[in-house]
Amino acid sequence: MGMGKVLWWRRILLSITAAVGVLLINLVIPVKGVTQLVQLQDSLAVPDSFRGSIVRRVPLSSANKAIALTFDDGPSPDITPQVLSILKEKNIPATFFVLGQNLKKFPHIGQQMLADGHVLGNHTWHHWYHRMREFIIAREIESTAKLISQVTGVRTNLFRPPYGHRYNGLVDYARKRKDVVVLWSVDSEDWRGQDISLEELVEQVLTNAEPGAIVLMHDSGGDDNKIVQALPKIIDGLSDRGYIFFSVPQLLQLEEQ
Ligand SMILES: [Zn+2]
Repeated sequence: MGMGKVLWWRRILLSITAAVGVLLINLVIPVKGVTQLVQLQDSLAVPDSFRGSIVRRVPLSSANKAIALTFDDGPSPDITPQVLSILKEKNIPATFFVLGQNLKKFPHIGQQMLADGHVLGNHTWHHWYHRMREFIIAREIESTAKLISQVTGVRTNLFRPPYGHRYNGLVDYARKRKDVVVLWSVDSEDWRGQDISLEELVEQVLTNAEPGAIVLMHDSGGDDNKIVQALPKIIDGLSDRGYIFFSVPQLLQLEEQ
């Protein structure tokens, strides 16, 4: 396929994604009764006021039950497609902090994320967390950012450091390049694998959820990760409690209003 054709397809794909995103938001909000009237036109745009800052959650009023689900360390061929199909079935957007080394292996899964209306963020290339030399840090972040652009046609301004580690130089670098450093306020603890039961995992999210929360989960980790079984219960439990799901950029836009 020639480059022109690739761009053409990409443009169509993006228009569809944008249209679906807007449609979904307009439909969902009045039904579920979020108090703020929100007009989120662009599911990918990060408000300028957040560029270069660190976000754990967005402080929203107790009536504004918006929440963002995030998935780290993918894409993986065993878990990510299952997560994507659950999200599609439940019709909710999420944010995926991908590793460059995995996106390089499974670019079609990254493209599927975008096509399904989700947002991709940068989680470095190798998931290294020790203190690194400046040129290694630059490579970890820039190579992943570049690959995300190449694979999806969309640039990301979202960065999440491996393990949420803030003092190894990665976060400083990301802030300098005006990314939003996205940490989390609710840890599903799915990374505990066999050491956490399905019930505990679901409960962990439901009891710690609050308006504006950012929930940490993982779409990797192989057979030990219970997130595929837990996710429908988490989504249903949060919906029952009145929560509405947003991508991280959308959640940031809510705070701006
Ligand atoms: Zn990670």
